Amino acid sequence: MNKKEFIKICHLLYERKYVVGSGGNVSVREGSKIYLTPTGSILGFLKEKDIAEMDIDGNVIKGNPTSERFMHLYIYKNREDVKAIIHTHSLISTFLSIIDKKIELLTPEGKFLNVGYVDYYEAGSLELAEAVAKRDEDVIILKNHGVVCLGDSLKSAYIKVEVLEEMAKLTLLKLIFQP
Ligand SMILES: [Zn+2]
Repeated sequence: MNKKEFIKICHLLYERKYVVGSGGNVSVREGSKIYLTPTGSILGFLKEKDIAEMDIDGNVIKGNPTSERFMHLYIYKNREDVKAIIHTHSLISTFLSIIDKKIELLTPEGKFLNVGYVDYYEAGSLELAEAVAKRDEDVIILKNHGVVCLGDSLKSAYIKVEVLEEMAKLTLLKLIFQP
């Protein structure tokens, strides 16, 4: 596991405001092991030694993995292709879910995204974990909460976070100027 890259991406998520405060979480799967951000951590200040570890059966190996650990676990169990998961509270993507608007992929940049939607469930609940793990898209919008981006690598999941929020901003601008 490339811990340096893991930390860099956590810091980028915070600096670029895809998460604020202790929001959001990140994980990577390698073999039967899952590396996750710890519960209650501020991603912008995370260090390599803080990374928690869990096995694919949900047993904690190290630290105290994110309170959204079941969402990560259920996705990995259901989706063999997924190696990395990023959950953020990207502002405009989340706002559009609050006003029940879907994100439009308005420029070629966004055409590779496939976006799914789930209803509102309490953060950290098994219901949320089950609803998200049932989807087969790589980008899932959690109503009134945030987004989950999946990838075959951490970098590919991260790119989806960036491009999705850009598409959300364009969608919002379109709604304002061409309602
Ligand atoms: Zn969240």
